[in-house]
Amino acid sequence: MPKPARLLLKNVGHLVTMDPQRRILRDAWLLAENGFIVSLGAGQPPKVTGAKTVNARGGIATPGMINTHHHMFQNLARAFGPISNLPLLPWLAGHMPLWRHFSPADLFVATQVAAAELMLSGCTMTSDHHYLFPRDGGPEMLDAGFHAAAAMGIRYVGCRGSVNQPSDIMPEWATQDLDVILADCQRLHDRFHQKGPGAMAHIAFAPCTIFGCSGEHYRESAKLARLLKVRLHTHCGETIPENKDARERLGARPFAYMAKHGWEGDDVWLAHGIHFNDRDIAHLTRTKTGIAHCPCSNMRLGSGVCRVNDLRKGGSAVSLGVDGSASNDSGHMLHEARLALLLTRVVHGAESITPEQALEMATLEGARNLGRSADLGSLEPGKSADIAVFPAEDLFSNGAHNPVHGLLLCHARNVDTLVIHGEVRVSEGRLVGVDLPKLLTKHRKTARRFHDGYRK
Ligand SMILES: [Zn+2]
Repeated sequence: MPKPARLLLKNVGHLVTMDPQRRILRDAWLLAENGFIVSLGAGQPPKVTGAKTVNARGGIATPGMINTHHHMFQNLARAFGPISNLPLLPWLAGHMPLWRHFSPADLFVATQVAAAELMLSGCTMTSDHHYLFPRDGGPEMLDAGFHAAAAMGIRYVGCRGSVNQPSDIMPEWATQDLDVILADCQRLHDRFHQKGPGAMAHIAFAPCTIFGCSGEHYRESAKLARLLKVRLHTHCGETIPENKDARERLGARPFAYMAKHGWEGDDVWLAHGIHFNDRDIAHLTRTKTGIAHCPCSNMRLGSGVCRVNDLRKGGSAVSLGVDGSASNDSGHMLHEARLALLLTRVVHGAESITPEQALEMATLEGARNLGRSADLGSLEPGKSADIAVFPAEDLFSNGAHNPVHGLLLCHARNVDTLVIHGEVRVSEGRLVGVDLPKLLTKHRKTARRFHDGYRK
């Protein structure tokens, strides 16, 4: 029998468990074995042999945060000047000429950088909705995302995006036939989708939007997903033009149209969910369909504000997504939670949401939307040891009266330590085993190649 891999995290100033009692333990410790939490408590840590000991230096430990919407490749087009000031649809169409010759090697480096940002900002599991499959990009595009995430050590949900009909936004070269898409979904499932608690990689099926996907596309994806017991993800309710297009072309509101094709239920989570009416909200909450709220991107593109509280009150999971790095234009998970708090308050007042509730969206609700409530989202014995440890105070939070509130109310900081499945991935604020300057140089060169090739 191999010796169990033990990790003892000690000297935690505040251990924010997010357990059902929402306990916050002071001067606490946590013991993990083979990737799972064995015990935790306040006061003197237990004496254990053969454990790797990590000193949290009085920091604030939270469950690893979970990012539920992203387009990682877009960090190659951050702050892209020619379209910086456009709303979603012309912005998206304006990007497309960049990507004509996008390759799996490009996705690999973009995913590594996206993962690095997320990990340093407290994220231990991320989804990546990758919908870019140029016809000459080769048959194994999303494989590069899975490989890059594994190289970085982050938990990953590869959302196999797809577009099967050209439009003003998506040119012909960026579309695929439905049978090619479904075959690739099946192949990726067979190759990468892990089962059971602690899984590091999952697949989800993720047609892009109603603009580029037919009813048959939605219907057949849902059928295959349910056969394979994987989850469904797409964009919905992001803009007013989307509602108009759905009404004129499909004779329905976007969510009603998707639901007709099987896209409702607690195995479905929708990105954005802004422009829903009361009827949509009642339908979403009745069916427990989840939402990935992306406050930064929604502000950046001027898309609108998600009705977070109405959805949560009704029982839908509302998690957080940094969204693509071309509309954020970074991927800082704690910052996203802070923006979720602030944006809800802009619309509904200071008493409408607490820092604890913003933290719930970043942790528990993320686990719910990605189907991982049983093993992720909180720090409790039996769950995976996914832990973010933020320094108790930094320049921007120094002297905070309530350090846990300060985590959300003060300027977002980076982690000191990050543990994923019992492995230390960030130590003393640095990624373990990653040459970040080298990675950034490679990423910059790749980004420049796309910028230099841009022809409208
Ligand atoms: Zn998106």
